[in-house]
Amino acid sequence: MVIHRSKKTPNNFILVILDSCRYDSFVKARPKVVKSLGKVEGRWSYASWTSPSHYNFLIGLMPHTSPKNVFASEYYKRDFLKFNERLGVENIEFRSLVPKMYLPAFLRDDLGYRTHAMVSLPVLNPMTILNNGFDSYKLMDRHNDMRAMLKQMKFSDEHPSFYLLNIGETHYPYALPDEPPESWPRISGVHGVFKHLDDEVVGGKLLKRKGEDKFFDQSKMDELRKRQIRSVSYIDKVLEELFDMVPKNTYITVTADHGELFGEDGYFGHGPVQHEKVFQVPFVEGKIR
Ligand SMILES: [Zn+2]
Repeated sequence: MVIHRSKKTPNNFILVILDSCRYDSFVKARPKVVKSLGKVEGRWSYASWTSPSHYNFLIGLMPHTSPKNVFASEYYKRDFLKFNERLGVENIEFRSLVPKMYLPAFLRDDLGYRTHAMVSLPVLNPMTILNNGFDSYKLMDRHNDMRAMLKQMKFSDEHPSFYLLNIGETHYPYALPDEPPESWPRISGVHGVFKHLDDEVVGGKLLKRKGEDKFFDQSKMDELRKRQIRSVSYIDKVLEELFDMVPKNTYITVTADHGELFGEDGYFGHGPVQHEKVFQVPFVEGKIR
């Protein structure tokens, strides 16, 4: 039986968010595969940590270019027109999302996408409101295994697919999946954000932990920065596997939710940090050929 379609099926769209990957770590790794998508830009995240930044992605706003002498509303409008190219459709504008202002719901309910999220960081877990508008939303078993995500991705000729992939290899402690946890760098033996919070807040009171964490010295910071660069080189290989497995009509955007500080002006990490390096992120996108 021949199925006649009245309209072209929109592109599959994959949004790859390298958690905490700052722009210059990305550039320093010289990733070859990801560059085949298009020109690598240094852009600016709207937020300095994971949750607000992902919410921003989910309303359809990618990291910005910080143009001067332009009204914000004009910038949003123009930036959003790019979705016509990403999705391979016409006539999408910023107001297409009004009033809900939520990309997964728009893709699913208005354009017939199957919408999926696979996330690595527990702050994005499926109980959060970010699960809205997704047909499936999964916190991965391990925080640092993008390859495990690839094994779960499916594409269909009947429906276009949207995948949001939050990648943890580039997040502290920048550990590759085959690296035993005993050899990861540690902050006083504590890894998880949640574990950290539990240690400090008991019965609503902020407690001091036994033995305050000593802040990293610069040689430790340098080592950590090298680890993040190494994680980008590794992810580039996994991206090659992704590019090889997706159907031709797939558009892929690779970027980061925020950057990371490695000792500049006394800062480490991201979150409560006001520094250029926590906002500058890589941005590259294009259609698979
Ligand atoms: Zn993050």
